Amino acid sequence: MQLTVLGAGTGVPLPRRSPAGVLVQIGATPLLFDLGPGTIPRLDAAGVSYRDLEYVFLTHLHPDHTLDLAMLLQALNYTPGFTRARPLHLIGCPDTKALYEGLLRVYSSVAPRGFELTIREISAERIAFGAWTIETAPSGHTATSIAYRIEAEDKAMVYTGDAKENPALVEIARDADAFVCECAFPRGYPTDDHMTADAVGRVARAARVKRVILNHLYPPALQVDIIAQVRAEYTGEIIVAEDGTRVSV
Ligand SMILES: [Zn+2]
Ligand SMILES: [Zn+2]
Repeated sequence: MQLTVLGAGTGVPLPRRSPAGVLVQIGATPLLFDLGPGTIPRLDAAGVSYRDLEYVFLTHLHPDHTLDLAMLLQALNYTPGFTRARPLHLIGCPDTKALYEGLLRVYSSVAPRGFELTIREISAERIAFGAWTIETAPSGHTATSIAYRIEAEDKAMVYTGDAKENPALVEIARDADAFVCECAFPRGYPTDDHMTADAVGRVARAARVKRVILNHLYPPALQVDIIAQVRAEYTGEIIVAEDGTRVSV
């Protein structure tokens, strides 16, 4: 598996950390997790065309994770010289259908032209797709937000999306080869619905993950030695994600 962080940031505009998006490539199959604004062109920069996407997964419905869904559908409909024939599978947290229906009400141009869009809502499930498997668990960020575990080629990676420290997060991250974890704020920062650096370290240690990729960093997390704060709890490999960070799993 190859994972590429397409957007390592949040809803706060920053030069090297754009809103959320993670690309996972399993052989020739690209899987896209979240698509905040600007994800589609950054996907292209990572060597994958939006035309070739078959599976898009959503963690939750905040704009920094979902706004490019409308752009993707519009691009599939209106790229000159291109006709989409294969289905597009949108899989996400509960309310994913409501998001699509809301988009349709406002943007009639996103209704698929010539291809099928399937939408499947999931909460805590394990789904096999042949050569790869997806498992989900509540991420704790919102009432319905989910984290994803992707297993393929005898490896496992986990993408938390936005999260809050909770036992389900430790379970889904268990022994993962790569743990792309939200690290929104430094230790001690007041938050009810995001991860702080010490919480990331505790979850990574409890789950015994092999490597942590710190993701979804708000500006306060970039103004401290964030690695040292995670390191205080966790002794494995730590990477601070930027847009384009690529890791072989
Ligand atoms: Zn977010
Ligand atoms: Zn969020």
